[in-house]
Amino acid sequence: MALTGLDIYKLLPKTNCKKCGRPTCLAFAMQLAQKKANIDECPDVSEQAKQTLGAASAPPIKLVTIGAGDNALRVGEENVLFRHEEKFYHPAGVAVAVSDRLSEAELDKKLKEVSALRFHRVGTEIGINLVAIQNDSGDKDAFARVSQKVSSNINLLLILASQSPEAMAQALSADGLAAKRPLLYGANNQNFESMAKLAKEKNCPLGVHSTSLEELADLTEKIKTLGVSEMVLNYQGNGVRDVLQGLTRLRRAALRKNFRSLGFPTITFLNDQDPYGEIAQASTYLAKYAGILVLHSYEPWQVLPLLTVRQNIYTDPQKPVQVQPKLYEVGQVTPDSPVLFTTNFSLTYYSVEGEVEASRIPTYILAVDTEGTSVLTAYSGDKLNEKVVAKAMNNTSVGERLKHKKLIIPGLVAVMSAKLKDETGWDILVGPKEASGLPSYLKTTWDRHGKKG
Ligand code: SF4
Repeated sequence: MALTGLDIYKLLPKTNCKKCGRPTCLAFAMQLAQKKANIDECPDVSEQAKQTLGAASAPPIKLVTIGAGDNALRVGEENVLFRHEEKFYHPAGVAVAVSDRLSEAELDKKLKEVSALRFHRVGTEIGINLVAIQNDSGDKDAFARVSQKVSSNINLLLILASQSPEAMAQALSADGLAAKRPLLYGANNQNFESMAKLAKEKNCPLGVHSTSLEELADLTEKIKTLGVSEMVLNYQGNGVRDVLQGLTRLRRAALRKNFRSLGFPTITFLNDQDPYGEIAQASTYLAKYAGILVLHSYEPWQVLPLLTVRQNIYTDPQKPVQVQPKLYEVGQVTPDSPVLFTTNFSLTYYSVEGEVEASRIPTYILAVDTEGTSVLTAYSGDKLNEKVVAKAMNNTSVGERLKHKKLIIPGLVAVMSAKLKDETGWDILVGPKEASGLPSYLKTTWDRHGKKG
């Protein structure tokens, strides 16, 4: 049961010494209860109180690490049901399923395709995280062979998926495989003792599955007593609606009721024959509240939208994603190259940069500091005006790099033209309203009116 602020207050020194940075012990206790403070911030708290509070103040959803080293995937330790309340911290892992029924040639082909599932979006490289090797054959030799091959041929994290403890043990006996800390999936009410023994022995996280939340809670408690604390839960619901309800109930039970038996990240397997349906389902589960998604199909056109959804969900909604405000060079710029400005909101900047690249016309892009807001938002909030743009031009000394004095401005703020001309003394050319219009603008309008004066 979670301790209330008053319960916690009774365990504190009650001296109101302020060493924790809060005005009173009660204020600190309230923040501890809301998980906005750490007990270690009070230097005078007793060891006994620490122990009592330590257990109570542990995150309601356990942080689980799959893999080892810098590339490890951390899932769980989320604090809120809704992203706008705080943010979601640990992006869900995306896995592609690989069957141990594949022939050598099919496996080679699939591994090559899976390795290529990396994309650049808004200045960040995004990609899938894991391969889930599935023991569809029921044969432990085939499972071990495919597991070993995947492990040695692909630089992704691993999920070993088999119901058989014998097959799992054999796969884990391959050189160096256990040290990669794969997720062992899955324990159920028949095999959990043997699976937990393996997970403990090899120090690997354990996937647990059931068609009932009550049974899942029961299993996690039993598995904890066997010495395994890192678990990932799969509620095997009946259809999309049931799975979504299950994922939501799991998250609510952990966060709202502090129900530790279900306080673990989740894993969900997709297997829809409709390739559009599979990605629509996966996106739905990503929003609420999948920790790991295992895809059956993995065409780039399916994976990229899913990764885009993930990238959007796991940003802090209270902090616009920004690029550094500065002068960027796209291509081999010269003193005759065009210069245009946009804002330092990542999505805006990268949309502009992408279109400029597509035009193949080397161009300077001045990213003006608007605190990460888009062109119209910044303009309407007076974060983008002639003085702000002139200051950015001065700070970057853009004029010293060019033979001309012509600035292309976003069409959405054409209204700034006259004031900006007065402020800077530059000729102002009104560009397109949308970034998608830039290639044609640079090839025609700039070529006619800008470059040739
Ligand atoms: S440091 Fe500890 S004793 Fe001092 S005010 Fe904070 S909670 Fe109270």
